[in-house]
Amino acid sequence: MEFNIGIGLTNACDLACPHCYRDTDRIDQLSLEQVTSACECLPVRSVNLGTGENGLHPDYAEIVRALAARGVKLSLTSNGYTIDRSSDETLSAFREVEVSIDFPTEAEQDAFRGHGNWKRVMAAIERAQRLGVTVTVLTVMMKTNFRRLPEIAKVAFAAGANYRVNVYQPVKTDAFTLTYEEFWDGFRRLLAAARLVSTTEPILNAMLGAPFKNGSGCGRQTVRITPKGDIVPCVYWNPRPICASRTCPRKVPTACSPLPSSRASAWCRRSAGAAHSSRPATAVARAGASSPAASSSPIRTVRSCEARRSISSGLPPPNASS
Ligand code: SF4
Repeated sequence: MEFNIGIGLTNACDLACPHCYRDTDRIDQLSLEQVTSACECLPVRSVNLGTGENGLHPDYAEIVRALAARGVKLSLTSNGYTIDRSSDETLSAFREVEVSIDFPTEAEQDAFRGHGNWKRVMAAIERAQRLGVTVTVLTVMMKTNFRRLPEIAKVAFAAGANYRVNVYQPVKTDAFTLTYEEFWDGFRRLLAAARLVSTTEPILNAMLGAPFKNGSGCGRQTVRITPKGDIVPCVYWNPRPICASRTCPRKVPTACSPLPSSRASAWCRRSAGAAHSSRPATAVARAGASSPAASSSPIRTVRSCEARRSISSGLPPPNASS
């Protein structure tokens, strides 16, 4: 079994997004030796560099060069900063870059992420594509934007990018957690606007007639190496006991509370990288593409948007937001 490894070279970031799960108590960073050692200890299928902004690591370019030399499939998740700061040589080493867009207009995106972020992201998309690097727009689906996903997908498709959605998972705050109703409302709107290519969201999978046969890939197909050097099964993993803190944002969903297994369920969700009102989730919309999984499921019957984009499914990302 080969692993998709998510690596956070550093938890430093130039932004301070309100939904971010990164540790802000101190800055940690991995060394080239730690990254190389991890790749030698594990059978590696792919490596994603994600949260924080990897370009802030002093040896970022050297580490990218070393990873590329190993022949692993490399991807980067960025708020635009790292792409902006990467040389053409470094950027070209990535098979794919993901850029974060959480709102469909410049004013809303900048209000949420920081002034100038929209322009930086758009410039990053254009530059990566000019270098032949595939671009995916990534949205964290939250209480504050679940109705806007079709508009954001249109922005992505207009830019010639793929589109992927991560459901918000509460690590530091519950403020952005979706209710079940909001979760479904958001996906209904998105599926009415674009065709699903892939998803690891088990409930969504089941409702679309494509049962989640193999369970979560967290810890089995994907692992994450944190800037502290910890190897964890999931990007949302928090080593604190789930109920150790009265302020812990992870709660057993109301719908599950009468069940005797609800406590275990909450643990399971944490282990699987999910919490509260949503399950381990990644929905991917790829422009103009379809997968064998999608073509053999009722997903095909979902109405395409005007831009004739399609939606499909894949493994949860080892890194989830930036
Ligand atoms: S969400 Fe990403 S861009 Fe925003 S503060 Fe966190 S690491 Fe930085």
